[in-house]
Amino acid sequence: MKRLLIVFPVVAAVFLFSRVALALDPIALPVDRACVVVLDPGHGGEDTGATGPAGVNEKDVTLAVAKKTAELIKAKTLCDVTLTRADDTFVPLAKRVAVANALNADLFVSIPVNAARRKAATGVETFFLSVDATDAEAQRLADFENSAGAMKNPSVTSDDLNDILLDLVITGAHHESARLAEAVQTSLLAGGGSPDRGVKQAPFIVLNGAAMPAALVEIGFISNKADEKRLKQEAEQTRIAQSLYNGIEVFLKTSAQLAKGAK
Ligand SMILES: [Zn+2]
Repeated sequence: MKRLLIVFPVVAAVFLFSRVALALDPIALPVDRACVVVLDPGHGGEDTGATGPAGVNEKDVTLAVAKKTAELIKAKTLCDVTLTRADDTFVPLAKRVAVANALNADLFVSIPVNAARRKAATGVETFFLSVDATDAEAQRLADFENSAGAMKNPSVTSDDLNDILLDLVITGAHHESARLAEAVQTSLLAGGGSPDRGVKQAPFIVLNGAAMPAALVEIGFISNKADEKRLKQEAEQTRIAQSLYNGIEVFLKTSAQLAKGAK
């Protein structure tokens, strides 16, 4: 009896602690509900995106990383995953987010690779949509990504962006996009390797009109010789995909917790 008196409180304490830990740690919870994820490999087809000093094309890196991320989501969650392009074809920017809207997706992550004139530039940065860019460099990047297949993209004015942002603020999706961007950026940094360039905002056409949390993650710099070499290696693509997956998982689990808390 004496022994029971000691054992019971210990068992109870361990049980209680594990419940509290589960509630606090989103990683400990499974993604146990159906959801829809849309991943968007940047560029494609005639639109190669940026090309590195050794000739690696952005469009090939983005497709490889997106495919690997999709495989992880399929293997580890109950979510459906759709890629805006599953092969080397051109898809207009506006059509990419339209795919996510048509599927009523829970989240949309666009995956391009950065490029800069300054060859030493490196690191990862994640964006969510806004009319005003965080800084001149963010605006320059948005201009570059927005020029993808410029001939085929209907032009988007800042008035269009303003209208859409108004909708986003009302629906709360804008705030959720910031949370998604934070989750993905944090996870990429935890995966190691790249300097933190932060979470930023810029008027990316590919995020324009997304009816769900949407973020754009620049996974490295193809204009940087060392980054380019790294980014074309399959092991590195797998590592980045794992980090992207982890970030998406954290976002989904936190969403589930927030939904529970709101009830
Ligand atoms: Zn690009």
